[in-house]
Amino acid sequence: MAKQQLHTNNIVRILREEWPHARCELLARDPWDLLVAVILSARTSDERVNQVMAHLTEHLVGPGAYASMDPHELEPMIKTVPLYQQKARYIVESARMIMQRFEGEVPTDPQLLRILPGVGNKTAAVVLGNAFAIPAVAVDVHVQRIVQRIGWVEDGDADDIEQFIMKNIDPRYWVQMCHQMIRLGREHCRPKRPWCSRCPLNKFCQQHDVLDAR
Ligand code: SF4
Repeated sequence: MAKQQLHTNNIVRILREEWPHARCELLARDPWDLLVAVILSARTSDERVNQVMAHLTEHLVGPGAYASMDPHELEPMIKTVPLYQQKARYIVESARMIMQRFEGEVPTDPQLLRILPGVGNKTAAVVLGNAFAIPAVAVDVHVQRIVQRIGWVEDGDADDIEQFIMKNIDPRYWVQMCHQMIRLGREHCRPKRPWCSRCPLNKFCQQHDVLDAR
């Protein structure tokens, strides 16, 4: 087996052993709720989003309820998240499109999902992977940072990282591996002062003796 593939397999294996139960931490009843939660999650924590979602789900059910709102009506309900005005517009416009073009169902085709306002590659991948169990690669800031530090893709952008993972890793691991990398990013591989000496990947990481400041 080629050296690069062995390195990749070892990292996937360690992540699976270390965080066997890693999963999406956004609370959602159905695909629509998850889509709303992921749109809300840009630049804020899952905890904050879950608080907002708890409030929203008390009052609103399904895209039909959101489609009939003016975005200004939604704003006060989500105003504790950053960019709430833009997010309110995205959510209401996505709901209207889903009602008008997709018979009230969140599409399972990635290309159709990505035409919804506010839905990019990462949001589409989170929804596909977690609401529909369709293999997809969600490259968030944690995944991007870790993939670069471990040397899978040193200078690439999110698209390059997605391509690397799709080419080199078994699709059945994609969804959970992204959640495992989020756990790694929160617990060890933080943006500043990563805790490399305690990181389960340190044997395979090209940055472990460069970045560890502890
Ligand atoms: S060894 Fe350090 S830089 Fe490498 S993945 Fe672990 S925490 Fe991140």
